[in-house]
Amino acid sequence: MPETNPSRYHRQTLLSEIGSDGQAKLAQSKIAIVGIGAIGCASADALTRAGVGQLVLIDRDIVELSNLQRQCLYTETDADRGTPKAVAAKRRLSKVNSMIRIQPIVADLTPENAVSHLDRADIIVDGTDNFETRYLLNDYAVRERTPMICGGAIATRGTIMPTFPGIGPCLRCLHPEVPVVRETCDTVGVLGPIVQIVGARQAALAMRVLIHGEGSIPIQLEEFDAWTGQARSFDITTAKEPDCPCCVRRQFTFLDGVRGSKAIRLCGRGAVQVSPAHTSGIDLVALAQRMQSSGDVIATDLFVRTRIQSHNEPGTIELTVFGDGRAIIKGTEDPAQARMIYARYIGS
Ligand SMILES: [Zn+2]
Repeated sequence: MPETNPSRYHRQTLLSEIGSDGQAKLAQSKIAIVGIGAIGCASADALTRAGVGQLVLIDRDIVELSNLQRQCLYTETDADRGTPKAVAAKRRLSKVNSMIRIQPIVADLTPENAVSHLDRADIIVDGTDNFETRYLLNDYAVRERTPMICGGAIATRGTIMPTFPGIGPCLRCLHPEVPVVRETCDTVGVLGPIVQIVGARQAALAMRVLIHGEGSIPIQLEEFDAWTGQARSFDITTAKEPDCPCCVRRQFTFLDGVRGSKAIRLCGRGAVQVSPAHTSGIDLVALAQRMQSSGDVIATDLFVRTRIQSHNEPGTIELTVFGDGRAIIKGTEDPAQARMIYARYIGS
């Protein structure tokens, strides 16, 4: 059980918005943070310090040197060792607050394991880097009536959107199909401070839901630009889609495993084929231009190919992407790693 010593949380129990009753609610709560990358690090740090009783940290990735510019829980030692992010995050957060329970899960969240990993979380905080996992989370959140705080950042801009099943729109009300993402942080970059803004705002919203309930919170999409200082919010109360496949028709196709990308190990070739969740194809010319920053690119009418040198992995990964969005990722036989590389360099 979290400690009852009032001095640790004194500065936040002073707030009328929290108080000792609110602090007790935080101590009794469980939050699942999915994706402990830049945004997940920021929200996990804030929620640990705030004294949320249980945190589940789910991430499939390992720490790399290029993470340290913005992922605030990790060190050079973690990068040298290639420590799984969930493990490194727990190690760091346990030193900040040893009185809460932190459960690291090193896994790719899939339809097969989502229910067991997310089970009984009071809130989901989205720190994922791809829409496919978000749609899986959206299915779970709607089906189980779990509030979710979505967040994302790219370049200097960040977006936050809470989804409260039964109250406002879900993700699929706004985007019925998985959006085709053409920009990722690995191809266009991301400013460190924007992820802190997004993660901090997600943590504040999560605390508010736990203490006062989701009915107390405006249903709005918020945008911030850490470089220009521009901030905007849009009321999305009425954005609920009357024929939404998820929250109205209750078809949980991502959670059921009917939809979503497919990663298939190509036996004997040391490669994995990833087929995207969307079927709209890919602009190979634009992809080739974006990939120039990752290394030499071979571009033809049929495919784009590049080699990726990963800091923690021996050898290189060869990535070949076809016009229909399908990719062959050579140099790994791990479907989870292949999906991760796809999300990073191609998008969702
Ligand atoms: Zn919906």
